[in-house]
This record gives sequence, structure tokens and C-alpha cells, in this order.
Amino acid sequence: MIPFNKSVYLPEALEYLEDSVKARNISGDGKYTKFCSQWLEKKFNAKKVLLTTSCTAALEMCAILLNIKSGDEIIMPSFTFVTTANAFVLHGAKIVFVDIRPDTMNIDETLIENAITKKTKAIVVVHYAGIGCEMNTIKKISDKYCIPIIEDSAQGVMSLYDGQALGTIGDLGCYSFHETKNYTMGEGGALVINNEKYIERAEIIREKGTNRTRFYRGEIDKYSWVDIGSSFLPSEINASYLYAQLEQAEKINNDRLQTWNYYYDAFKEYKKNNILDLPIIPSLCKHNAHMFYLKFKDINIRTQYINHMKKEHINCVFHYVPLHSSEAGKNFSRFSGNDVYTTKESERLVRLPMFYAMSEKERKKIINCSIVFIKNNT
Ligand SMILES: *Cc1c(COP(=O)(O)O)cnc(C)c1O
Repeated sequence: MIPFNKSVYLPEALEYLEDSVKARNISGDGKYTKFCSQWLEKKFNAKKVLLTTSCTAALEMCAILLNIKSGDEIIMPSFTFVTTANAFVLHGAKIVFVDIRPDTMNIDETLIENAITKKTKAIVVVHYAGIGCEMNTIKKISDKYCIPIIEDSAQGVMSLYDGQALGTIGDLGCYSFHETKNYTMGEGGALVINNEKYIERAEIIREKGTNRTRFYRGEIDKYSWVDIGSSFLPSEINASYLYAQLEQAEKINNDRLQTWNYYYDAFKEYKKNNILDLPIIPSLCKHNAHMFYLKFKDINIRTQYINHMKKEHINCVFHYVPLHSSEAGKNFSRFSGNDVYTTKESERLVRLPMFYAMSEKERKKIINCSIVFIKNNT
């Protein structure tokens, strides 16, 4: 069976894990947590990066930082992972969904302005497949209405938009280091703080509402409870595992891009608009090969394709059930404008296996099995 995903394995990860365990100091904010956050800050030119227990946790920190309360509205696409919305709903927000663009599956920037009301507290963009949203336009809207931008950049680590790292463009950015992402610590993530006014409070929220971070830095002589917060910091065990991958991020990125390009080159001659579509990379974007997908004519052909691949022992998957049509989504959201593309495009999309160090044999098998299906069904 060719699985859909395999987490990265590097021998150095074991070395760093052993080092963190032997140091007998495995709670958060030790040596490897610092290595990771400093690496991310330097590589992406970010003001402040705080490692978290997940991207979900980082999104929840954003909700707390923005003082989200009952009745506030948050704009985002409906084609995203549950926690993009849930993090804000937990604090009482109502989600206002905006349709996506069919080419990138990202929020349609031209529809955002229409969704803004007096209650709008944030625009959450999701860089689907690690391909940047149209941030120049979205920044202008954010400036015009003084509404902060949060980037759900869970999939966008090592991607660029107009030369800037995804996650560092909005006021706040969130990364995921979940097993299914390009770089992983099992479960984990990071909050990227680009607007300096949030830095001090973010450190407090992450440390259970205490000013322990300042205490460790020697800036105060005792620490105490000063604000609301929770335990959002991961252990050194997780951070040490991640650090090995960050050190080799270019190598991992290039390896994934090679697989992505291999797929693209094999499928491009079969591309037919609205019958078989491939990912589109806008000219300002440099992506990280987080994902390779195909879009078939409709849900029926997609189902047939997934079954065909399963028979060949290849696991291809789809996502997401648009949040506005999910059980909880119906209670906590409204859709601004019409769902022209969100449902339709989500039903066409299927993801191919994508992981670090995929073998030539695996790639060939996936492509050959797919082409047999494509020739008979498109
Ligand atoms: C994976 C993902 C998340 C959640 O990440 P966790 O680290 O598992 O919390 C959130 N948003 C998007 C778009 C994702 O792909």
C-alpha cells in the first residue's frame, strides 16, 4: 500500500531527541524550543515566533489576543479545516464565510469587502496547499477598515508570496507541525507575531496567563497570574524532533518540489478545463509542495478515481466538507454572497500521496495508475 502521508524520518531527529531526554529537562521553552523559534524567526524574517502545541492552539491564542467575544464576526473561507473557525467560535464569534477562487481554492479577495460589517474583528486567510492568497489586495482592505489579518498558514511553512514568507504578512500567522504537514513534531505549531503590539501579551497567554517568560529572562523578580491564558507550549521532546527537520528544511522542500513537479509534468498533457484541472500557482507565489491535487469533473468521477486507486493499493484522499454546510457550521456561521465555487470545487478535488523521500517506483506507480483512469474517464 502506498500511504497518503508518511512523517519525515531523519536520523538526526533521534540524536536530538536523545540529547533532550538526557538533559533531564524536557518541559517547554528549553534549548530546542529556542533553536526552533530562532530558526523560524531568522529564516522567515519574522518579528517573533512562539512554538505552540498545535496550529489550532495558535489560532486560539489569536482569538484571545483579539479579545473576541460574543457577537463578533470573523471573515474566512468555508473551504478550510475545522479549527480555523472553531478557535473563534469557542470565544463566541460568528463566522462569516466568503467564497473561494476556483484556481487556487483560496478566499476570493474581491468578495471580502462586501462581507465586512461593524462587527467584523478579523480576516482569516487560509493559504491552501501552501499557495499564498492574494495578500496585496487583502492588505489594502485590512488597512482601509483597520481590521487585522490572521494567516492560517498551517500548510504554508517555507512558501513565499511576493518575496515574503507566508505567515509573516498579516498581523498574526499560524503554522502547523502536525504529522500531515511538511515539517512535523507529531502534534505542534507556532504563532508568528508580526504586529509588535501583540508580543508581550502573547507570551503571557501561552504561559497560562502568567508572566513567567519575563521572569525567565530576568526582567522581573517573581512571576504571577496577570491575564487569561492556557498551556500552549510544547515540550522539548517535540521541539527536538522538529529542529532536525528545520535544519534540513531546504533539502526537504526541494525533495517535495521534485515530486510535485514530477506529478505536474506527467499530468499536464491531460489537463482539460473543468474536466481535469491541476493546481495553479499565481506568479507572485513560490509554493512549498505541501500538496498535489487533481480536480475531476464532479464528485462521481472523483469517487470512482479514489476506488480505482484503492484497488491498486494507493491511498488518495479528499477534504474538506465545506464548513458552512457542516452540522456545527450551520449554527455558528453565515455565508456572505453565494457559494458559487466552495462546494462545487471541493467535490472535484482529490489529493495524491505526497511525502518526503517518495521513491521513483512509488511516483511511477501513482502516475501510471492515474493515467489509466484519466484516459478512460475524462
Ligand atoms: C492542519 C491544519 C490546521 C490544524 O493544524 P493542527 O496543528 O493540527 O492544529 C488548521 N488549519 C489548516 C488550514 C490546516 O491545514
